[in-house]
Amino acid sequence: MLRIGNTDIKYLKGVGDARAKLLADELDIHSFRDLLYYFPFRHIDRSRFYAIADFTPDMPNVQIKGRFLRFYKEGEGAKQRLIAVFTDGRSVMEVVWFSRIKQIENAYPLNTELVLFGKPNFFKGSYSIAHPEVETYDPSTPPQGLRGVYSLTEKLRKRGITSRTIQNLVGNLFDKVADITDIIPQSVCRQFGLMPLRDALRNIHFPESLHDLKKAQERLKFEELFFIQLHILRFTKRRNSSIRGHVFPTIGEHFNRFYSEVLPFQLTDAQKRVIKEIRSDMRTGRQMNRLLQGDVGSGKTMVAFMTMLIAVDNKTQACLMAPTEILARQHYQSIAQWAEPIGVNVRLLTGSTRTKERKEIHESLIDGSLDILIGTHAVIEENVQFHNLAMVVIDEQHRFGVQQRAKLWSKNALPPHVLVMTATPIPRTLAMTLYGDLDVSVIDQLPPGRKPVMTLLRYDDNRQQVVNAVKDQLSKGRQVYIVYPLIHDNDKLSLRSLEEDYQNVCATYPGYKVCYVHGQMKADEKDHQMQLFVSGEAHIMVATTVIEVGVNVPNASVMIIENAERFGLSQLHQLRGRVGRGADQSYCILMSKRQIASATRERLEIMTQSTDGFVIAEADMKMRGPGNMEGTQQSGLAFNMRLASLATDGQMIAITRDAASDLLDANPQLYGATTSPAESSGSSLTTLSPSECNIINNELKFRFSQDTDWSRIS
Ligand code: ADP
Ligand code: MG
Repeated sequence: MLRIGNTDIKYLKGVGDARAKLLADELDIHSFRDLLYYFPFRHIDRSRFYAIADFTPDMPNVQIKGRFLRFYKEGEGAKQRLIAVFTDGRSVMEVVWFSRIKQIENAYPLNTELVLFGKPNFFKGSYSIAHPEVETYDPSTPPQGLRGVYSLTEKLRKRGITSRTIQNLVGNLFDKVADITDIIPQSVCRQFGLMPLRDALRNIHFPESLHDLKKAQERLKFEELFFIQLHILRFTKRRNSSIRGHVFPTIGEHFNRFYSEVLPFQLTDAQKRVIKEIRSDMRTGRQMNRLLQGDVGSGKTMVAFMTMLIAVDNKTQACLMAPTEILARQHYQSIAQWAEPIGVNVRLLTGSTRTKERKEIHESLIDGSLDILIGTHAVIEENVQFHNLAMVVIDEQHRFGVQQRAKLWSKNALPPHVLVMTATPIPRTLAMTLYGDLDVSVIDQLPPGRKPVMTLLRYDDNRQQVVNAVKDQLSKGRQVYIVYPLIHDNDKLSLRSLEEDYQNVCATYPGYKVCYVHGQMKADEKDHQMQLFVSGEAHIMVATTVIEVGVNVPNASVMIIENAERFGLSQLHQLRGRVGRGADQSYCILMSKRQIASATRERLEIMTQSTDGFVIAEADMKMRGPGNMEGTQQSGLAFNMRLASLATDGQMIAITRDAASDLLDANPQLYGATTSPAESSGSSLTTLSPSECNIINNELKFRFSQDTDWSRIS
């Protein structure tokens, strides 16, 4: 971008060794470039001084000229605060500090003309400002326009580094830098009307006007997303162009026989469409990497099975991995039942498979007589070797890391097709960035005859009503889940815990058997308790969120979630998915304290209004931010974004994705392909000059040098 961009920050006028170390430690600013990309988090209008009398409650950050009349302290110890009475000559207001009290008291003399910057807060009839920036008034400084405010750490403030200091340093840098070469190709800038990089950087630090600031922010946000998409798509395209996959030309005897003689119900249209999508992937010679999203109960297992049949019909083997033993066993039970009548061999391999049986399985895998293997992590152990593995299904993928996925891929010369199934709906924008390397199929339809789960919000003081409703369901032979946020009591959090409530539940529902499951139990004990519920021997299961994934007990019709206010939306949705699997009306009861924040109430109300996982996932992302979404952390690919947000920039994500894809198609050398671009494929494709390619390659290297995950899986 700029030749001196990598220059150590200590060489900038006004920095030096000591400050360089501070900037590096506190703000991760090491070079000239890092400083240029250290953007203000907001801007203050410094074109005029505001009068206290003109304050309004919704006012942004403003500057006020005046003086401190006196200081005094309130509160004790950690709660102590310093208050100053400030006047602009006409009115007075309070200024408050909660920390650095001593320094501040000594820093600002009384009755000297000062300028404060801050946001007025309206509280109990008067205005105050907390932690303003303070400067001495200098009548010789001309009025300025918008000025950036930079986030700083306590330590930097102690060492006298303020927002103003950063501004001055950036100013010094611009004095020194004659030109900044753009890192986005001219053609792309032109197509999307982007502000050139040098103007954008200047305007984000020192905007000439609000309009220029907006254009600058938009350009830099585009840049951020554009490079993320280039980064992801580069691997996808490289893989697609270099890795061959198994070609399955035919749908054969097993698939057809199953479809016409065994299939116990009609496939939904969504299931049919997804099977077609998968089928066409596997015909191309490309290796399939597909994410299958479908709400709980949408029938993903059947899709997985029919997909595996295509592999079997083409004389290869298939394997299905589940995150827990219980889930693996449930898949095995369904699939074995479907496979048996058509003569397809299926075995189950888990941690508790006996040695003798394990040996048999290993042998039949190697000699090719075993068609489908179902299991837990056990299937990716070193000693499990396949004769010809060509299809891998991974259920509930967020429990499997990228590396485990990669491990399976290397089991064979030709990598198998991979189908990753998840019941955690991921908003489209998130999928495009987090799982950008996967194609996505969606089952957006439930099998017919399902009644949506009725969801109710109930407060602790209505508990008796809930108990009566549960008794009614139990008396009809239904089963009930009760989920707690905690296993043990915790004095600090006044939450209900499983341990504390277990006896309670037993006493409240006499004559019914209660089993329990939580994350601190040994695996076999957990399985045993789970089995009690699956078999119907136990009527009530008290549990923590360990039951979240996959368990299928169609007779269970009530899900009670205690302290529902403590759970995220996606988690509540997952839990609710445990009921509503049979033909009868099911209920999900969210128990909450009556006193909750309004945002919390809003969240719980979304649950009562929608059963659509995608609607809930979108709402969840908007409320909590994409960084906290389930699956985001585990994926290890949560890109660190400064300007863009996955929650609110969906449109720009889509635009940059298309732009990045077009650019790569026109310039395959960017992802290392040797073939020249398809000549005839359109007029909008722009070929880059070698130097433009170089700039992009360097930029990608710079931005993503630490991100190794993608290269592992490509
Ligand atoms: P999930 O997508 O949550 O994994 P499952 O595959 O466990 O859902 O399916 C839930 C239930 O619905 C199973 O009992 C399954 O046999 C049944 N099912 C799947 N597809 C259909 C269909 N098209 N019609 C009727 N029932 C179906
Ligand atoms: Mg499932």
